[in-house]
Amino acid sequence: MLGTMQDWELRVSALVDHAAREHPTREIVTHWADGRRTRTNWRDVRRDARKVVQALRRLDIYPGDRVATLAMNHGHHLVSWFGITGAACVLHTVNPRLFEDQLEYIVNHARDRVLLYDAAFQPIVDRMKSRWPTIEHYICFDSGDCAPAFEDWIAAEKGDAVWSPGDERQPCMLCYTSGTTGHPKAVLYTHRSNVLHTLVTMAPSCLGLEARSCVLPVVPMFHANNWGLPWSSAATGAKMVYSQVNDPAVLCDLMNAEGVTHVGGVPTVWFSLFQHLDETGAEMPPIEVALSGGSAVPASVVERLMRSGVRAMQAWGMTETSPIATVTWEPPEWADMSFEEQVAYKSTQGRGICGSEVRIVSLDDHARELPRDGTTSGALQVRGPWTVRRYFGETDDAVGAGQWFDTGDVATLSPEGVLRLTDRTKDVIKSGGEWISSVELENAAVGHSDVLEAAAIGVSHPRWGERPILIVVKRPGADLSGEQLREFMASRVAKWSLPDAVEFVTAIPHTGTGKISKKDLRVQYGDYKLP
Ligand code: ADP
Repeated sequence: MLGTMQDWELRVSALVDHAAREHPTREIVTHWADGRRTRTNWRDVRRDARKVVQALRRLDIYPGDRVATLAMNHGHHLVSWFGITGAACVLHTVNPRLFEDQLEYIVNHARDRVLLYDAAFQPIVDRMKSRWPTIEHYICFDSGDCAPAFEDWIAAEKGDAVWSPGDERQPCMLCYTSGTTGHPKAVLYTHRSNVLHTLVTMAPSCLGLEARSCVLPVVPMFHANNWGLPWSSAATGAKMVYSQVNDPAVLCDLMNAEGVTHVGGVPTVWFSLFQHLDETGAEMPPIEVALSGGSAVPASVVERLMRSGVRAMQAWGMTETSPIATVTWEPPEWADMSFEEQVAYKSTQGRGICGSEVRIVSLDDHARELPRDGTTSGALQVRGPWTVRRYFGETDDAVGAGQWFDTGDVATLSPEGVLRLTDRTKDVIKSGGEWISSVELENAAVGHSDVLEAAAIGVSHPRWGERPILIVVKRPGADLSGEQLREFMASRVAKWSLPDAVEFVTAIPHTGTGKISKKDLRVQYGDYKLP
């Protein structure tokens, strides 16, 4: 027997319909690279998204076709998200920071038919055009110099299209992982997975979004579903603020001027914001929630956010998990915890959110489930209705028995289910049969007030196999020696895991998504001679 409730397909178009109906005048603000600030609202986002549906149909683009974007964060990009998915096409957000070979691979693999792009990426488009034979139409988001301008492209449309209907399991969006080994892999979200992810992540025990919220996603729209923020903001009617540039002065000004309550960004965003505040003497903007993830958030960052009265929310996830899977939701005993205990908890990767299950298994071939005892570390696995089952274009599932997906991360789980990432499987430093967590070393180092950023990698050692070295960016003007830093770290990590050498550099390489690029560092320090 089946139940007798209404059977609506869970599709993302319903989210913008809700926003336009119940929160029509809530604004979407864009700070453009040329300094202009423009405003639209949810009613007009829906109207323009419907125009996009009509413009796509006019180009003979059909449901299921892939439509790509190569763009930073702005209101037109947001409109295209709802327009492309509303036409039942698949939104493919291309990361402009990928290498050319990867850009060639993913566009051809996705068989994108249309590309909407920022004028700033015209040089990429010019270089890649001949290598992207599947793209039939180019639309430029912010200028009409080399391709039809987005606003002109949709201007003649009425904006009264009906969303293309379909099954909730139809594809909605395609995101490629950065592919640390081999080709990038494509995660194909469904309408259903995105709606379910939205309903859980907007809740108080996760982001706590509501109609009075104002969301500034600093995380790029081309990274991991923009952490679901466009969908969850629409679902709550939150105001949104986007910046096409990642300048801390601009971001800080937007937070103050627009009444931003929620900011989402990788740890580097907070580092550069703090640096800006220190240099200018400005106050921390009065935001309420700082959602951080993508890489480990050091306790020093958590502490500074919390001392400023900000609710620090660290999330763990990956493109394959839409991306939010665990979050540092406050436990019932929160009010009884000391400040230090609260900071320590907020510096973990948090606990599973409803709909996302995590476990750790042995790192050998047997994948035996390991105890939640807070000390045993193992391979982190995850499952749930917004976790990938199979990569797009593959014939085999990416999950094992019970639909568990292997994340490539190494972690411990406490009896309460608190997740602590100790490393990525490929970043752990194997020294004389012991495993040294590069993350632990980095966290200890950035706890020093003279350290802006630190990365630990293993370099080969004749006796130990590998030994850690630490690459450090100092605060400008700081007078810190490697030995002083090692002494500082000695009380925080096991003595035998202390880095054998500390190298001070002016900058550490980052990946397209703002994470430290261990891959580049390993190449750079491949022949490193330990002292
Ligand atoms: P990639 O970096 O491979 O392109 P993602 O952006 O999907 O892919 O990143 C997922 C990875 O980022 C996770 O597997 C994990 O290693 C790391 N990560 C994400 N959130 C956190 C966090 N809060 N703490 C530590 N590492 C994190």
